[in-house]
Amino acid sequence: MNEERDKFLTELMNQCWHDYDKDKPINTYSLEAYICKKCKGFILGNNDFSQEEDFMRLYTWAKTQKVLKETIEKYDEQNFHDKENGKFYREKFADSVYTIFKQTKDNE
Ligand SMILES: [Zn+2]
Repeated sequence: MNEERDKFLTELMNQCWHDYDKDKPINTYSLEAYICKKCKGFILGNNDFSQEEDFMRLYTWAKTQKVLKETIEKYDEQNFHDKENGKFYREKFADSVYTIFKQTKDNE
């Protein structure tokens, strides 16, 4: 997990990078949840784009971005779901997207 990258990408997607007290979970039936101080949402945590579920949100969004067309074409979507190597590809893809947008922002 790369928090700086994941925060940058989450905000780029216009989503809230949740601010919450990790020491104060609200106990629900089976999992620990939190209330975000910024969006007041009931959350389980922040995006971790090395995880398949969070990653697919990034991937779906990335497909709508013109500037990422070439990057998208370099990857086979199946690779992201691969049990053994999926995490490697997800991290690699997220890093590429991060690098591309970070450069654009720094040049502004
Ligand atoms: Zn939030």
